[in-house]
Amino acid sequence: MENISPALLEWFYKNRRSLPFREDPTPYHVWLSEVMLQQTRVSAVLPYYYRFLEALPDIPALAACEEEKLHKLWEGLGYYSRVRNLQKAAKLVCAQYGGQLPADYAALLALPGIGEYTAGAIASISFGLPVPAVDGNVLRVFSRLYNDPGVITEPAVKKAFTARVMEHQPPEKAGDYNQALMELGALVCVPNGAPLCGQCPLAEVCRARAAGTTAQLPQKAKPKPRKIVPVTLALVESPAGFLVQQRPQKGLLAGLWQPVLWEDEHLLQAEVLARLTALGLDTGTAAPAALPAAKHIFTHIEWLMSGVQLRVAAQSAPAGYVWASREQLRTAYALPGAFRAYKPLLL
Ligand code: SF4
Repeated sequence: MENISPALLEWFYKNRRSLPFREDPTPYHVWLSEVMLQQTRVSAVLPYYYRFLEALPDIPALAACEEEKLHKLWEGLGYYSRVRNLQKAAKLVCAQYGGQLPADYAALLALPGIGEYTAGAIASISFGLPVPAVDGNVLRVFSRLYNDPGVITEPAVKKAFTARVMEHQPPEKAGDYNQALMELGALVCVPNGAPLCGQCPLAEVCRARAAGTTAQLPQKAKPKPRKIVPVTLALVESPAGFLVQQRPQKGLLAGLWQPVLWEDEHLLQAEVLARLTALGLDTGTAAPAALPAAKHIFTHIEWLMSGVQLRVAAQSAPAGYVWASREQLRTAYALPGAFRAYKPLLL
């Protein structure tokens, strides 16, 4: 196959989307955008990106940010381990590199939360280093370009595809080439539905197009079925606000806040009241109202939520809980998107 970079770069310079982290690709900007873009669309990321940079304009500010504020800035993006790793890495960058990301692929890769793709994106786009940045878009493009049925979720296949990506990379334009491949995958060689081969600068050399196999590529391993977890919530409101609790610092939604809830259990109203009483709460005589059922899908788990809402008299919060006013829930306590269905009741 002839080198694809001239046609690809020409297309990229004409068709690239203007994005803030592309117009001002400092290492911090590229890093932050790539972390936010994992599992999230560009259009959804942009408001978060602007807000985050306004609050934390550089790596030292990120390193020094209080946990609650950090979670609040990330609220709605999900996958909170991303922002926790971002801060862990920022602290290391301040301690080891004077607050500036190192212009070194291996050193970037050694930082928490920075994998091969993100290290490659920062190294090539911000520092111009000739390294790969291979994400799902790039794997899809190469799978089709070479009409290769290799399962792209397998490390050996990804390695082989990465070697091909590098065969075509012009070392002096590594960042543009990597971005061009990602952009082609995002805009033309699209993941859902038919690729727009009529608009593709690589159409003439594309083997899947010639073979008529674009719809079957890329090949992916079948995802494991998600574990279904019943969850029972109690939205308990007193004159001081809602009863909330911080989740443990490790595991699912670590460190975020939640209403009273029980995982792995679908409880009836009477059982919820008994559990609340056991916590030391005086639930009075008011009948609780049923909450609408809701579902939240995590990567490997699916929460099926139900529960009750009830008002109680003023009293101190049981151990491990606090009363949080609507205003505090809006501005200070990060409630994960898993409770999206109940946020109108809480906020
Ligand atoms: S010709 Fe079609 S299938 Fe091939 S790389 Fe271009 S958009 Fe993808």
